[in-house]
Amino acid sequence: MKDNMRFGTKAIHGGLEPDAATGAIMTPIYQTSTYVQESVGDHKGYEYSRTLNPTRHALEKNLAAIENGIFGACFGSGLAAMDCVIKMLNPGDEVISTNDLYGGSFRLFKTIFEKYGIKFHFVSMIDTSAIEEKINSNTKLIWVETPTNPMMNIIDIKAVSQIAKGNNVLLAVDNTFATPYLQTPLDLGADIVMHSVTKYLGGHSDVVMGALICNDEKIAEEIYRIQNSSGAVCGPQDSFLVLRGIKTLHLRVQRHCENGEKIAKWLVNHPKVDKVYWPGFESHPNHAVAKKQMKGFGGMISFTLKGNSLEASHEIVAKVKIFCLAESLGGVESLIGHPATMTHASIPKEEREKSGVVDSLIRLSVGVEDVEDLIQDLDNAMV
Ligand SMILES: *Cc1c(COP(=O)(O)O)cnc(C)c1O
Repeated sequence: MKDNMRFGTKAIHGGLEPDAATGAIMTPIYQTSTYVQESVGDHKGYEYSRTLNPTRHALEKNLAAIENGIFGACFGSGLAAMDCVIKMLNPGDEVISTNDLYGGSFRLFKTIFEKYGIKFHFVSMIDTSAIEEKINSNTKLIWVETPTNPMMNIIDIKAVSQIAKGNNVLLAVDNTFATPYLQTPLDLGADIVMHSVTKYLGGHSDVVMGALICNDEKIAEEIYRIQNSSGAVCGPQDSFLVLRGIKTLHLRVQRHCENGEKIAKWLVNHPKVDKVYWPGFESHPNHAVAKKQMKGFGGMISFTLKGNSLEASHEIVAKVKIFCLAESLGGVESLIGHPATMTHASIPKEEREKSGVVDSLIRLSVGVEDVEDLIQDLDNAMV
């Protein structure tokens, strides 16, 4: 029965059992570092909490279930999860990555791993032929993020996976923006799914965490070996909060999508707005791919202003009262941000403008509040 569960049922029950010791329906917070053994080596499956902790273990199984995977591994942040994937490689190996990547991912690749002799190529994957041009016998990993941040480009995961498989290269997909409710990359041929659990999976802006999910036992063994050896694990309290968050993931993402659609359509008709980037529009250049690989279009929206004024966009992000001016995304509360001076400030102006991050670009993480209030808030700020 549990194998055939639909998404909402899996979010609530997937990989989970009542607590074996007490019957508690909610996984307890096993706030312990170690486990008493009856005699040497005679234990109940847990020896030391860096290696395995029951609360984290329950979350890892739950995450595997909702991503249609078999193995899950949780880390102290999304970047710690990515760090684990790159540590599977050796000096001399090459990685092909999307070019409009989350800033922290770019920093990890360039400033940490390049000095260990791993080479990174950053290409636009909207046209997948750019990947084939860069593949050579040293290529070991393709790194995809879709939808991308903040321009909401969509990459065809299945098409990339065919290239990866044809060349014996691993494919990892950062599924943070879409969530498994909207998109399950393992079903499309990816080998590893990565999450910043901090965002939609946690969903309540109270935890920083990362995760990897995969189907292949050999890959999982490597991930667990690095997780245990490098030790960037998350704690039981945070694991509990995320287990609780995931129980409403499907409800939250449904509302994020509904609110996102209404706000995107309202923005398009606003006299001050120039462009609106949201993959649900038929005019979005990758709409067909989004429709094929996603169940909905999400609540992440970027837009620009006519005249492209930095001051005008700063005025809007300062004037809103319900939208909060903050980095991050995916929580129940709506956030507003100005990429050119916040998340993308370290990228030279010329370079960021090439990818579309112009001075007036504003990014919204649409929350699950009443959408009429959100629209009114934007309307008041955009007079
Ligand atoms: C936030 C984020 C990350 C990094 O995750 P942390 O939990 O902040 O370490 C990676 N990828 C994407 C798409 C993100 O939004």
